[in-house]
Amino acid sequence: KFKEINKGSVNHLNTFISFEDDKSLDRQIRESQERYDKGTNKRLDGIPIGVKDNFSSKSLKTTCGSKILENYIPSFDSTVVKLLKEEGAIIIGKTNMDEFSMGSSSTSGNFGSVINPWSKPSLNNSEKELYVAGGSSGGSAAAVASNYCVASIGSDTGGSIRQPSSYCGVVGFKPSYGLISRFGLISYASSLDTPGVLTNNVEDAAELLDVLIKKDQENDSTSLEFINNNKNNNNNNEKRNILKEFNEKLKFKNIKDLVFGIPKDYLIKELDEDILNLWKEVVEEIEKRGGKVIPVSLPHTRYALPAYYLLATSEASSNLSRFDGVRYGYRYESGENTNGSSGGDGSNETIKVGMGLKDMYTKTRTNGFGEEVKKRIILGTMALSRSSYDNFYTKAQKIRRLVSDDFKQVFEGEEKVDILITPTAPSPAFKQNEKMDPIEVYINDIMTIPSNLAGLPACSIPLKLSKSNLPISVQLISNRLTDDNLLFAAHTIM
Ligand code: GLN
Repeated sequence: KFKEINKGSVNHLNTFISFEDDKSLDRQIRESQERYDKGTNKRLDGIPIGVKDNFSSKSLKTTCGSKILENYIPSFDSTVVKLLKEEGAIIIGKTNMDEFSMGSSSTSGNFGSVINPWSKPSLNNSEKELYVAGGSSGGSAAAVASNYCVASIGSDTGGSIRQPSSYCGVVGFKPSYGLISRFGLISYASSLDTPGVLTNNVEDAAELLDVLIKKDQENDSTSLEFINNNKNNNNNNEKRNILKEFNEKLKFKNIKDLVFGIPKDYLIKELDEDILNLWKEVVEEIEKRGGKVIPVSLPHTRYALPAYYLLATSEASSNLSRFDGVRYGYRYESGENTNGSSGGDGSNETIKVGMGLKDMYTKTRTNGFGEEVKKRIILGTMALSRSSYDNFYTKAQKIRRLVSDDFKQVFEGEEKVDILITPTAPSPAFKQNEKMDPIEVYINDIMTIPSNLAGLPACSIPLKLSKSNLPISVQLISNRLTDDNLLFAAHTIM
């Protein structure tokens, strides 16, 4: 099947941007097989995995879905790629995404839109019947949903693993911020970017997380050890093993041991009816099985979305300044046409002679970045400018703290909630070209963003199909560094 994919014949959903070449695949499969035969196999030997194209990989292009990096081949592997390779995983290719992870539909990239595998195009009406895969890790979600690979890697800054997982009907797990190294992940908003996994089931997610959760302090200063979060626990600093603890919980823990919280602030008017009903069904089912469910309040939830879009764009405007045509990827050559509308002097002229350095920067960025990315760089630059900083950036930081404190209150206050249950997204997948209004698209992230602002682990589990035959999911959120408990709850409910 790898080879079919490799020839491009199976890439009709546009899930991959690049593929490992046949020879290398053959060699890796052979080596895995040999290790199996000798009984010296590694944990992920022979397992095909897709990796989102914003994780640096030295044998494969890493485009971030952008023209500005269209031919960029990094000289090193990201920590995630390195750990996968060390365990024998076969990275079959790099998955398609929204440009620089900015988006919720995987339609904004330079390499075309990802198509949701649940689309059922009718012959005469095909274009109109295609659904988006969600984003920005839409390629990773669609690749697992259509069985091109057993699991995939994504990144989640504001929902980019969980929302496409929900749209495509797979499990999407974003661990606590800091547990998986960001080294080699091309930054969008560094204080929010979180690598994670997309799989068919919770067991696979646990297995893969166990490979990837590894302290990497020398490469990523925000990297953390997986230790106990429980302050009353004497073994506070003891290193933990997520898979072991997950398995122990499967053996000894019961749904009756968990307190589930339902945040009423997530009941928004935009919520689709099927999803609301699913949310209710899950609550009923948990109560039937003896789990305790209580209503809770996270009062600052409504401010999370605007705060996120200020913070994320501010960080992006700074992070993306390195793409200047000098150090990486694409550089504007004199004589080329600028097709952008917003750069330089705004004209579309062809420069023939005497292009200066500043001109080169401008034309490179004008041509190299897409519209959404440029919009966000401008917004972020504005928010960080001296005259706006206090009014926008500082305020957004304060909101971030309030949102975190809301969660802390629910998890560590009197209620002692273990798991919050919410929808993952307000609706099932929408059709390609349906939601063109950016505000409407931003609203899509309303349920996923708060846990990014607070650095909490959160996952999306697919539970059934909507009336329109599209997957729908719920999201589970737990306290920081209780990722093992979250896996257990996800397993119990799924
Ligand atoms: N849709 C959100 C955004 O565009 C989240 C993206 C992400 O998590 N990378 O910023």
